[in-house]
Amino acid sequence: MLLNIENLSVSYRTDDEVVTEAAVDVSLTLDRGEVLGIVGESGSGKSSVAMSVARLLPSPPAFWPKGRILFDGKDTLTMPLADLRQIRGKRIGVVFQDPMGSLSPLHRIGDQLVETVRLHEDVSCSAARARALEWLGKVGIPDPAVRAEAYPHELSGGMQQRVMIAMALMLEPDLLIADEPTTALDVTIQAQVLKLMKELHRTKSAVLLITHDLGVVSQMATRLAVMKDGRVVETSECPDEFFNHPQHPYSRALVGEARRMELE
Ligand code: ADP
Ligand code: MG
Repeated sequence: MLLNIENLSVSYRTDDEVVTEAAVDVSLTLDRGEVLGIVGESGSGKSSVAMSVARLLPSPPAFWPKGRILFDGKDTLTMPLADLRQIRGKRIGVVFQDPMGSLSPLHRIGDQLVETVRLHEDVSCSAARARALEWLGKVGIPDPAVRAEAYPHELSGGMQQRVMIAMALMLEPDLLIADEPTTALDVTIQAQVLKLMKELHRTKSAVLLITHDLGVVSQMATRLAVMKDGRVVETSECPDEFFNHPQHPYSRALVGEARRMELE
């Protein structure tokens, strides 16, 4: 099993010592070649779980009262930061809701992509640059050679999002964590990005896909989990069946609402 989240609880302790339980006793597994979709309303704890996998939550305020996250058998919550840094990017790729979480405002995007490749792989500058331009094209950025010279703030939010997606996918990670990856994108580009993610999982990567968009999940997920108030209330090994017969009352409400929106 590539990823084994065991009885994970994620909490935040704010200044006044108030504790928010963002996730409670969450157990999920994910293997190569699978796309695990996590759905649930805003605030249900999806990002807290997903970002814990690569230990990307600021701690404090985040802490983990309970549980383990085994990636290839090793607990990412307790492994030395140096080991974690080896894994992040190369083996676990992350796409955030907010692209500025992974882009540096100070460097041209082409240089950032080149540096990312060279940090993890022993390739020449020119080979890395060719790969960077290729991936900018793949995520739908027109004139990659020109855009590569831009700084992040010179690009629209949707373009920044695409650059971040290119950065995560180009290293072909074993696990891709995508948290609302296509929310800021228009439909054409969204379809293009989803196609790239599908290709990645066909190459035997695992994808953890967080979204509130059930349409995206039904297209992509091979398994799914529904979260509500920090807990997993339903899992399904067969998304088609889930959409036809959601079991938990909350899942039924989610599916029902998605149907209504489709009809409108
Ligand atoms: P989702 O991704 O499903 O919208 P989150 O994991 O972002 O859910 O949030 C789950 C809960 O944790 C929410 O109640 C949210 O307010 C809280 N939370 C998230 N991040 C922080 C933080 N940095 N500090 C305090 N509380 C947080
Ligand atoms: Mg979130």
